[in-house]
Amino acid sequence: MTALPWHRAILEKLLADRAHFPHALLVHGPSGTGKAEFARALAAGALCEAPRSGLACGACPSCHWLSHGNHPDFREIVPEATAEEEGDAPEAAEGAKAEKAKSLVIKIDQIRAVADFIALSTHRAGFRVLVVRPAEAMQPAAANALLKTLEEPPPHTIIALVSDRPARLLATIRSRCRQLALPMPPRETALAWLKAQGIANAEGALAIAGGAPLLALELAQPDEEALRRKLMSELARPGGADPVAFATSIDRAAIERTIHWLQTWVQDLVRVKVGGEARHHGEHLAALRAKAKPAELEALFAFDRELASARALAAHPLNPRLVAEHLLMAYNRATNAAKP
Ligand SMILES: [Zn+2]
Repeated sequence: MTALPWHRAILEKLLADRAHFPHALLVHGPSGTGKAEFARALAAGALCEAPRSGLACGACPSCHWLSHGNHPDFREIVPEATAEEEGDAPEAAEGAKAEKAKSLVIKIDQIRAVADFIALSTHRAGFRVLVVRPAEAMQPAAANALLKTLEEPPPHTIIALVSDRPARLLATIRSRCRQLALPMPPRETALAWLKAQGIANAEGALAIAGGAPLLALELAQPDEEALRRKLMSELARPGGADPVAFATSIDRAAIERTIHWLQTWVQDLVRVKVGGEARHHGEHLAALRAKAKPAELEALFAFDRELASARALAAHPLNPRLVAEHLLMAYNRATNAAKP
């Protein structure tokens, strides 16, 4: 649970005054910058039995349990699908595992399941920490159940809500938390970290991720790069993208990323159109310019709005191929690909 370099100073400051630690924190900030890691490092620091400048020592029994995922005073609530992706879901039976779509929301049962954890005394006579992420994934009933705990927090309890979109949380939940906005990491710090993770083209990876280092690391993986290359060559095609051919290979895992790339591409198109610089796809500047030229700004904005609603729906069981096909057709229309 080592803190990410760009979080260290914030954590040290936060953990310096343990006597007045907020019982509820809402950690938000740009996605892909390590908010989940921040919450875990915060937990590690709070639970550590020999903290160094407030941060976890990494060597005491508490740090040891936490790194092995079995600290009795730590719980993390995530949607089933997230738990599976991160490889800490309980093993499902063969077959059933592949067929049953995992839940993308946090259910009331998951909040109820930690009631004892919250109510009983702590095991190590220190803090207990509950992390909920992403907090906006809580179903209304789950959010209301958690609200009760936030209203009457037991002593020595830290509840850290992690959110990409705090505006989607109940106002009553937001108002009971101390808000902590994590900034985008400084570029040099992010680059050094990426290089330390073995990413050869750290500059390129960071640019594509819009400056978010954890997203950059994820996007630098081979299958992610392949998807991006494929989509970019479609988007750059002078005569317009081929929606049907592209969509054949798009599955549920790829659709959300496809929408992400479309969003960054359209944002770059708008920037280039108004004489600015591409933020994400500078390596495709010639294509961006060629595409931006015949496109109407209003059409690009409309397409961007369509992408935002498609993104909100991407978590739901729609047919990913049809979604990809539909969006590429909308892209062709927005960029006037049909008309020379
Ligand atoms: Zn420790």
